[in-house]
Amino acid sequence: MSRIHSKETAPEITFRKLIHRAGFRYRLHDKTLPGKPDLILKKYNTVVFIHGCFWHGHQNCRRGNKPKTNKKYWNAKIDRNIARDKENRIKLEGAGWRIFTVWECELKDLDGVLKKFETFIKSVLGKKICRK
Ligand SMILES: [Zn+2]
Repeated sequence: MSRIHSKETAPEITFRKLIHRAGFRYRLHDKTLPGKPDLILKKYNTVVFIHGCFWHGHQNCRRGNKPKTNKKYWNAKIDRNIARDKENRIKLEGAGWRIFTVWECELKDLDGVLKKFETFIKSVLGKKICRK
């Protein structure tokens, strides 16, 4: 597995603190779940991934741009990450989890990210929770 998930990153800590202050409680890095989500909010049936724009190939994002040199190498590497993210999403959704993805670049606007997260949680609460 990539080193992205093996240790805590600054964006991860930033987001964690943000939602913790807003009263959300979570568990970290559940290794039993596909893709080892960064945060798990069981109460809301939700897992959170905090993605580095570059490593996870954020579309239309400056930070997601691949370097001009070694293009082939980076394309292959990042395409693999994107494919793996997609597989994990399918598995998690299949198991009834809802997935919230935070991109590194979104953390420039903490209020905006928190609002987006709260809106997401509200939409979860509005739906029937189907996970056993
Ligand atoms: Zn981005």
